[in-house]
Amino acid sequence: MFNGILINKDEAGYRASLQQIDEAQLPEGDVTVRVDWSTLNYKDGLAITGKSPVVRRFPMVPGIDFAGIVTASSHAGWQVGDKVILNGWGVGETHWGGLAQVARVRGDWLVPQPKAFSARQAMAIGTAGYTAMLCVLALEKHGIKPADGEILVTGANGGVGSVAIALLAKLGYTVVASTGRAAEEAHLKALGASAIIDRNELSAPGKPIGKERWAGVVDAVGSHTLANACATTKYRGAVAACGLAQGMDFPASVAPFILRGVTLYGIDSVMAPLAVRLEAWERLGRDLEIAKLDAITREIGLAEALTVGAELLEGKVRGRVVVDVNR
Ligand code: NAP
Repeated sequence: MFNGILINKDEAGYRASLQQIDEAQLPEGDVTVRVDWSTLNYKDGLAITGKSPVVRRFPMVPGIDFAGIVTASSHAGWQVGDKVILNGWGVGETHWGGLAQVARVRGDWLVPQPKAFSARQAMAIGTAGYTAMLCVLALEKHGIKPADGEILVTGANGGVGSVAIALLAKLGYTVVASTGRAAEEAHLKALGASAIIDRNELSAPGKPIGKERWAGVVDAVGSHTLANACATTKYRGAVAACGLAQGMDFPASVAPFILRGVTLYGIDSVMAPLAVRLEAWERLGRDLEIAKLDAITREIGLAEALTVGAELLEGKVRGRVVVDVNR
C-alpha cells in the first residue's frame, strides 16, 4: 500500500482525497518509480478542484510531474536505481500521476534527473519552469537579443512567470513583469525584473494594434492580455504563448501579424519530443540560478496539496510549490 491523492467522480460528485492505495491498482506501464518529490502546477489545481475537466479517467491520481527512483523496469532504457523525472504526457490527466508515493508509467516518458539539480530542485522547476524555458528558447531561436529591447512576462508571480523572469534576467534581457500583485514588486525585482506593470493595463479589450513596446513576450495568461501583448509587440518581434490564466479565448486581430510581422509561437510542454525536453533541461541547468529557484519555492506535504491546489487557482500562491509525497 502507498499514500496518494485520488480523484473520484461519480453520483456522489467530484472529490479529491488522500488515500491508501493498493499497488495492484497501479496502471499499466513498463517502469515503476518510487516518487520522492512532486509539485503543483496550474493544471494540478484544475484537476484537484475539478474546476476544468483536465482529468479524463477516474479514479485518477493527479500530478503532472514527479521525480523519483526506478524500482522495477522492463524498459531497455531504465534500470532499478536510476534517478528519473517526468513532465506531462497526460500523466495526472489520463494516466495516474505524481501526487503519490509510487507511479507506474511508460519508460519512454521518463527523462534522467538533470545532473544540475536534486530531485527536489527539479520539481521546484517542474512543468511550469520547463515551460518557461521552452518560451525563452522560442524567443532566442527567433533571434531576439537583449539589445532589441524589453521582454514582457505576464502572470509574473506564477510558476511560469517567475522562472521566465529569472532566466531572461540571467541571459541579459530587460524584463517587464505584468502582475496583479503590486505588493510583490520587490520580490519580482529581486528575481530580475527591471520594471513592473499592473496586469489591468493588459487585461481589458484593447485596440487591434498599439504603440510598439516589446521585443518579445512570454505570456502565461491568454485572452485579452495575449491580444494586447501581440498588439504592442515591436516590428518582427515574437510572442511565446503558453497559458490561459485569464482565459482560453484570443480576442485579437491579425494586424500585428500582417502589419508588423509579429510571430506568435505556441508552446506546448505536455507532448514535446524528448530532444526538446533534454535541451530545455540542459539549458535550465546552465541558466537558472539556484538561489532564485529557492527564493520562489515553498514546500508542502501530500495532504496539503488538496488545499494549496485550490489556492493556486485563486492566485494566492507565489512562485512554485514542491510536494514531499512522503510527509
Ligand atoms: P500559476 O502559478 O497559477 O500562475 C498563474 C499566474 O497568472 C498567477 O500567479 C497570476 O500572476 C496570473 N493570473 C491569474 N489569474 C489571472 C487573470 N485572471 N488575469 C491575468 N493574470 C492572471 O500557474 P502556472 O503553473 O505558472 O501556469 C500558468 C499558465 O500556463 C496556466 O494557464 C497553465 O495552464 C499554463 N501552462 C501551460 C503549459 C503548456 O505546456 N502550454 C505548461 C505549464 C503551464 P500575478 O499574480 O503575478 O498577476
